[in-house]
Amino acid sequence: VLEAADRVTQRLADWERRDPGRLRVHVDARDGMKPGAKYYEWELRGVPLRMELGPRDLASNQGMLVRRDNREKRPVSLDALGEDVADLLMRIQEDMLIAARERREQHSVRHAISYDDFRALMDGEGAFVYAGWCGDGACEAQIKEDTKATIRVLPDEEFRSAETPTKCLRCGRAAVSEAVWAKAY
Ligand SMILES: [Zn+2]
Repeated sequence: VLEAADRVTQRLADWERRDPGRLRVHVDARDGMKPGAKYYEWELRGVPLRMELGPRDLASNQGMLVRRDNREKRPVSLDALGEDVADLLMRIQEDMLIAARERREQHSVRHAISYDDFRALMDGEGAFVYAGWCGDGACEAQIKEDTKATIRVLPDEEFRSAETPTKCLRCGRAAVSEAVWAKAY
């Protein structure tokens, strides 16, 4: 198995030389440790992709690739490794980015919200609230005192809401910019 693992490492290293900076490979050759314990340890560390390699896999010249993000397993031929692995890592990156964006939007409020509703929201589950701000530091301080929420960011254009808020969340004066409000933890 270790011999095969070395061959896999070598193949990935060859591939890596053609397109550097995309793969880092580590063989966990520790003896006397159950596979499950190894899997668990590397998952904790955040390694996105592992290959399981055992005697039975070798008999069929295969390894098992397992994604950390969705636990999906798929067998791969040990001869065709390289591109496969890099593609899969790319897909993991894309899937995680999509999921992170969805999660962010699920926890974002971009519609007009009354100050009372905003306070209730911050008291409860919290959210990223996109709302107008009058530009007055005293107004922001009052909002912080009422809700513990502060301005997290004044979003750049590409992150702003489709409809620009015209009034300040709290005082109702004309907004000078859109701000993202949330509690810091
Ligand atoms: Zn204000």
